[in-house]
Amino acid sequence: MHAWPAPEFPSLPVTGPEVALHDTATGRLVTTTPEGAARLYVCGITPYDATHLGHAATYVGFDLLNRAWRNAGHEVVYAQNVTDVDDPLLERATKVGIDWVELAERETELFRQDMTALRVLPPDHYTGAVESIPLVIELIQKLEAAGAVYQVETDLYFSVTADPAFGEESGFPREQMLEIYPERGGDPDRPGKRDPLDCVVWRGERPGEPSWPSPWGPGRPGWHIECAAIARTQLGGGFDVQGGGSDLVFPHHEMCAGHAHVADPGTPFARMYAHAGMVAYDGEKMSKSKGNLVFVSALRNSDIDPMAIRLALLRHHYRSDWEWTDEQLFDAVDTLGQWRKALALGRGAPAEPVVEDVLGVLASDLDAPAAVELVQDWVDATLGTDGLADASDPHAAASIGVLLDAALGLQL
Ligand code: ZN
Repeated sequence: MHAWPAPEFPSLPVTGPEVALHDTATGRLVTTTPEGAARLYVCGITPYDATHLGHAATYVGFDLLNRAWRNAGHEVVYAQNVTDVDDPLLERATKVGIDWVELAERETELFRQDMTALRVLPPDHYTGAVESIPLVIELIQKLEAAGAVYQVETDLYFSVTADPAFGEESGFPREQMLEIYPERGGDPDRPGKRDPLDCVVWRGERPGEPSWPSPWGPGRPGWHIECAAIARTQLGGGFDVQGGGSDLVFPHHEMCAGHAHVADPGTPFARMYAHAGMVAYDGEKMSKSKGNLVFVSALRNSDIDPMAIRLALLRHHYRSDWEWTDEQLFDAVDTLGQWRKALALGRGAPAEPVVEDVLGVLASDLDAPAAVELVQDWVDATLGTDGLADASDPHAAASIGVLLDAALGLQL
């Protein structure tokens, strides 16, 4: 399927440093070393509801990585999926009395509009679960040839014991996996399973649900195999970074890695796993079930500048868990007003050190809050908020404007 239009990406006069990221699997800050183009996979949405700020924070977070790589002189190949057939989507479609295809198309389109407004660089490969079915079947056949799948009634399961590296992505002990698994779509207690942690790779047809033909009978793909199939096909083995929200650390990313390890022995799925924090509202993590979602589209519809939404998100480190408040948005609107005033002067405090410092903090685990602080210091010096306006650099505003756009995705 098509992604969304790419915003302009200005080139900076200097090259940024190589990008280091916190790797979930090793728990360390690791410098990425792309061979050829940098390859990124970020798990996409299940389009049953509009984009909330938790989603937006994740995609803006990985957009910083995309930008930091480009600013370091790398080409980037970015793939993302859309889980356009899955239980929550079908349940929601039945509940609101709408065709599931129509619901998925409508919400995917809204997501595209939200990402466009937030100036998130689009993926090069944007693939739906439905269109990935041939890739999924091919991958399951590989797993089957390796003796790693078995049938329970009409469903096909993946044996987690087939992957000797199973558990290395999350680093979670088995007890923790067993505890989390049922909360995140797993079915540890189903009779007939060989290991409680085994996951569905092909779900046999249920009455009233859509299905597609396969060598194992009609059905549809499991969620984990969808991402594994898309990523290994479109990016190849050992791609640079697998990203997503921290709720995907287990089981989703562990299972994706497991599928790929068994299908392509000796090749890592991703070289590194990066995870964005969770956003809360009214004291709890934003989630459909809690009903405490703040939608990007709703903010846009109330004439909020999307750049203010983006700035409010950038003020939090991508890995931190934090709570959204309306005050943060009002603050961001005020800040942008002040930044625009400084940029309108043309001249300002020297831009060159700001450009270097901002690229530096972003290359160190995407520290956007530090980058925002550095820009704020330049604005304060330029406007003379301490009574000493510095207008020594005649090209300052142009340079800072390009920096904000290229590095932070803020077009003022
Ligand atoms: Zn995924």
